[in-house]
Amino acid sequence: MTELRTLKVALLGCGNVGAQVARILIDDADTLASRAGARLELSGIAVRDVDAPREVDLPRALFTTDAEALVKDADLVIELMGGIEPARTLILTAMRNGACVVTGNKALVAKDGPTLHEEADRAGVQLSYEAAVAGAIPILRPIRDSLSGDRITRVLGIVNGTTNFILDQMDSTGAQFADALAQAQRLGYAEADPTADVEGYDAASKAAILASLSFHTRFSLDDVYCEGISSVTAADIAAAKDAGFVIKLLAIAEKLDTADAAAGTDAAADGNTGISVRVHPTLLPREHPLAAVHGAFNAVFVEAENAGELMFYGQGAGGKPTASAVMGDLISAARSIVLGGPGRAETTTGQVVALPISSAVTSYYIGLDVADQPGVLAQIARLFAEHGVSIEIMRQTIHRDADSNTESAELRIVTHRASEAALAATVEAVKGLDVINSVTSVLRVEGV
Ligand code: NAP
Repeated sequence: MTELRTLKVALLGCGNVGAQVARILIDDADTLASRAGARLELSGIAVRDVDAPREVDLPRALFTTDAEALVKDADLVIELMGGIEPARTLILTAMRNGACVVTGNKALVAKDGPTLHEEADRAGVQLSYEAAVAGAIPILRPIRDSLSGDRITRVLGIVNGTTNFILDQMDSTGAQFADALAQAQRLGYAEADPTADVEGYDAASKAAILASLSFHTRFSLDDVYCEGISSVTAADIAAAKDAGFVIKLLAIAEKLDTADAAAGTDAAADGNTGISVRVHPTLLPREHPLAAVHGAFNAVFVEAENAGELMFYGQGAGGKPTASAVMGDLISAARSIVLGGPGRAETTTGQVVALPISSAVTSYYIGLDVADQPGVLAQIARLFAEHGVSIEIMRQTIHRDADSNTESAELRIVTHRASEAALAATVEAVKGLDVINSVTSVLRVEGV
């Protein structure tokens, strides 16, 4: 095998996300090398306090407070410090020195995206920030790449887990905003100062980024109308519920015909159309896919002329989920350096085998037509146990045929996860019991 080149990776910040990124870079070094086509060497981690306790055990020698020196000697820079300065200057310095940059800093990208992009273009380096919107959910790359041959007409996003948790609590328990917020703080879903989340500022940054990529125009935070959820009352939620709606804080970016739009809009982009970018509490019909997004989860619903409706769902925050998005950007940037282009479309270094269906492990639903007599359930349960298939639910329904005056029993069983082979052997054995009239169905169950 040819020797892989080594790329130096500078990490700025070692908090919730940075510590997880450092862990993955060290623990998964070999896998990452095969995916990137280069070894990714963590050359240092810039922090404020080198002696602060960290969530992950990392070599002390990696830490430094001299972020600028670290950045100047790197091929790839990952910025996970947050805030505007010094993050902005460090990113610009890194790109001027020819490094590709990955960041999760939505506040900076929303505020100063144009400057960062112009520098990336001038320097001919990649600037990527998948982690800045909706944590682990791959949403920016699908919008930027996969949908680049389509026309996006509207994006609706639940992009702030804190506010979704609070509104979901209010909806399910009838709680007032203040009580739901206090609970979110107790459970660690809301910060001690929740302003950026509850007033919609965090979602507004993400709305600006989503709008920019969706409509191929640079929108900044100033273009986003922003209204938070602090004035949503339990009575609002109850009234919405009564009418078949749920209230969600949505980040919305949509193409509007300016002739139809409200008077006063000056967002004329493409002749008669403009883009409305906004964040506000919104009523959604309970059957809308976004209405089913509960707790601190995020989801983004995209409408495009040809693709139709698409939904992206997952964890919108947290160290590990966000680190996943950062690593995806990092591999892509590394490939661009190694290959001088976008890189390989796929990698085939896994070398894993395709398994036959008999190796599949899942839960099963089994329908049985059985004799209605004592001891039947015990016999069947014993057979399942003998084959190592454990039963989660067993329900019996008796059917009476008035014409023939006979009774039959229908048994419905849902199993815990079992191998396909064990289940097949169980079903064969069950068929052999005298008390079984027939096996009416065997279906696989997922998601329980
Ligand atoms: P965090 O836990 O507050 O960590 C910030 C890190 O940056 C700390 O290690 C801190 O050093 C370091 N730092 C801050 N200012 C610095 C400075 N001036 N010089 C050197 N180091 C500095 O932040 P996080 O939650 O990991 O978030 C990082 C970024 O990812 C932010 O832009 C955030 O918006 C974004 N993001 C976070 C999440 C999430 O779930 N947390 C999700 C999506 C995006 P010390 O440890 O020494 O104080």
